[in-house]
Amino acid sequence: MNLLDLVSGGKVAALIGSEWRLSVKNFDVVNPANGETVAQVADMGAEDAREAIVAAERAGKAWRKVSAKERARLLKRWFDLVVVETEALARIMTLEQGKPLAEARGEVAYGASFIEFFGEESKRMAGEVLPAPDTSKRLLVTREPVGVVAAITPWNFPLAMITRKCAPALAAGCSVVIKPAEATPLTALALARLALQAGIPEGLISVVTCSSPAGVGDVLTTDSRVRKVSFTGSTEVGKYLLSQCAGTVKKTAMELGGNAPFIVFNDADLDAAVDGAIASKFRNAGQTCVCTNRFLVQADVYDAFLEKLVDRVRGLTVGSGLDNDVTVGPLINAAAVEKVQSHVNDGLFKGARLLVGGQAHELGGNFFAPTVMADVTADMLVASEETFGPLAAVFRFETEAEALELANDTPSGLAAYFYTRDYGRVFRTLEALEYGMVGVNEGLISTELAPFGGIKESGLGREGSHHGLDEFTELKYACLGGL
Ligand code: ADP
Repeated sequence: MNLLDLVSGGKVAALIGSEWRLSVKNFDVVNPANGETVAQVADMGAEDAREAIVAAERAGKAWRKVSAKERARLLKRWFDLVVVETEALARIMTLEQGKPLAEARGEVAYGASFIEFFGEESKRMAGEVLPAPDTSKRLLVTREPVGVVAAITPWNFPLAMITRKCAPALAAGCSVVIKPAEATPLTALALARLALQAGIPEGLISVVTCSSPAGVGDVLTTDSRVRKVSFTGSTEVGKYLLSQCAGTVKKTAMELGGNAPFIVFNDADLDAAVDGAIASKFRNAGQTCVCTNRFLVQADVYDAFLEKLVDRVRGLTVGSGLDNDVTVGPLINAAAVEKVQSHVNDGLFKGARLLVGGQAHELGGNFFAPTVMADVTADMLVASEETFGPLAAVFRFETEAEALELANDTPSGLAAYFYTRDYGRVFRTLEALEYGMVGVNEGLISTELAPFGGIKESGLGREGSHHGLDEFTELKYACLGGL
């Protein structure tokens, strides 16, 4: 299959049920590295979304009766095809999203891992027999697929955020209507093509592409046939979607924004901490929800950490993700560049110190220079808002208690990181951090094997691991009497 025809600049169809549907209305997918149009994609609306739901409901009724072993076999074939098409998928992703090709290849491997894992896991969707209150009864608990799932996904991980939802949904016996982000619909369409090629039945996956999310989004969050909405994106939109879902009491999974602290204690291995800092801050040009937003560094190692960090940041190479040696690609659009600049300006105005970067990169467009800003304090914008860009904002602290208070001083609770070699402090800090995920002497924590998700305003539910499959099942309890 030639997936690269998706990025040849032509008109691209959406997938509504079993139909690849072109439209008279299309929207441009733009390469954030140079502003060129990569493709024109069908602009679907509310009626198309309803048709996708009808198809999903129909296909889902048959799919839930397919054996777990057969579901696993088809998911494995999809996984194999995704792996075989790594280069094409990575290229499509870099063209529409901007991340360096090496990172895009990494995302294909990461995204594919969910398909493999949940295919295997579908065979372990077991129920229970519970002790009964008296001997004339037996209590059975079975797990059933929730039904039609709407997956609303972001542009920062155009592939993995789809497989992390669709693979467990399909593994559990559900069908899925995907609404990809308007900036990155091509990766979603490429994945769907591969799913069909793998033999996953038509109608189980639809991809409803659209230029403005409200019309399609309203249908997905209010139609009573959709039983679960799984969303990854901003906290603001997540709260709105939650309120929309209330009307028909849908199950929801919300992976929302973070404001990750990264604490470096006096006894940390500083080189390891700087490695972790670079990975957790500058991957995807700082556009991940688990990106460090606030570096909190203890007084004794503050200057040494800054020196090492600045040194490494100077070594980052900014440019088009298609160029081999590039480590930091463009931001997704001009608004993203403005946001980073506003955090830098606000910090400098309020007394922070600029050590490197601080402005648009000389390449212009959506490129921003990797930046380190020291002496950041809690009154600055970057302390309370997710920057979503290549700005390392560094705070100084004196005591462990002060670090924990600063770290938890946010409504978000997604990811946190800390570096120390003291084992008592490892446990104290781990237990005190109000976060769903914690990297201890580790800057990269995502894997299909672990439950990804946040607490507080960072969301509801978990993706990945066996917990990720539970999210797409309902328990049914049966009391067998008269025995
Ligand atoms: P970001 O700020 O990172 O772009 P968003 O939360 O705006 O994150 O977008 C994440 C996903 O949510 C995208 O697919 C986007 O189209 C979708 N989205 C945004 N607003 C709505 C809405 N009103 N209804 C449904 N989906 C929406």
